[in-house]
Amino acid sequence: MLEEWGGKRYNSFGVHLRRLFGERVHRVSLDAGFTCPNRDGTLGTGGCIFCDAGGSRAGYVNPKTPVEEQLRSGMEIISKTTGAKKFIAYFQAFSNTYAPPETLETLYYSVQKFPDVVGIAISTRPDLVPDEILDLIEKIAVQKYVWLELGIQTMKEETLRRLNRGHGVQQNIDAIRRAKLRPHINILAHMILGLPDETDTEIIMNARMISELGVHGVKMHHLYVVENTVLANLYREGKAKVYEDVEDYAHIAVRFLENLRPDIIVHRLHGFATSGLIAPSWTSNRFLGTQKIEELLNKYNTYQGKYYNSPHF
Ligand code: SF4
Repeated sequence: MLEEWGGKRYNSFGVHLRRLFGERVHRVSLDAGFTCPNRDGTLGTGGCIFCDAGGSRAGYVNPKTPVEEQLRSGMEIISKTTGAKKFIAYFQAFSNTYAPPETLETLYYSVQKFPDVVGIAISTRPDLVPDEILDLIEKIAVQKYVWLELGIQTMKEETLRRLNRGHGVQQNIDAIRRAKLRPHINILAHMILGLPDETDTEIIMNARMISELGVHGVKMHHLYVVENTVLANLYREGKAKVYEDVEDYAHIAVRFLENLRPDIIVHRLHGFATSGLIAPSWTSNRFLGTQKIEELLNKYNTYQGKYYNSPHF
């Protein structure tokens, strides 16, 4: 298995892409001007407690620029700095299925004319993937490499309520199950480790539950605090905690990986932010979290999926 994973102790997306496309492939983050029902008043106006007004937009993206221009300049910059020649167009900011199917069809197809774009990734909420939109994504996925990224975050109902997500566990399950009826769509779960009042056992159970639901990929995030969020107030009042020490996060991340299905592709091991960051400070280091997790995997001679078939809490 470790050989298949390029010597890593987890099934990394980078290695997977190199195997699939024969070279490095980079994501280009895009902001297609969507909003989110949890901000525009449909479900609420405050948003999730950890989300700032940028809706998880990448720092280098200018939302006022047309999407095709964002993609063109993103590819140019990444190509100059990394030498990459192939890209995934990543619809990242806010909820990228929050529009009528005809609008989405035009948008998703607009990036496909770029010959260097080998795939697309669409990030959205689990309550924003009705069947007609899944059908559209499946149609694209028949021709192109596609990831549908769902903001699952946790499988604990009470936490979803505390986060002010505006959806529950049932919608998480329903979105994954319906997406799985379309065999060409790769489904990814965004999961946050270290959410308020979640125990280590509950974090491990999250890994096991998304594994059993059959997702194909995961993005692991640690909880971090940025300015202009409800979480920032809670943190300053001492009512919310984060993994201040990267070692503490690395330990729980390793246990999460050990309980994850081994064929799930791990797109990221932790979050990253610089703009408006309050805590933990290591969030601004793109590599430190990964380095610590890999060190621990080696130190304990362990790997992704080690306990998937024999639960270990
Ligand atoms: S659903 Fe996404 S974009 Fe909307 S408030 Fe929550 S984190 Fe932000």
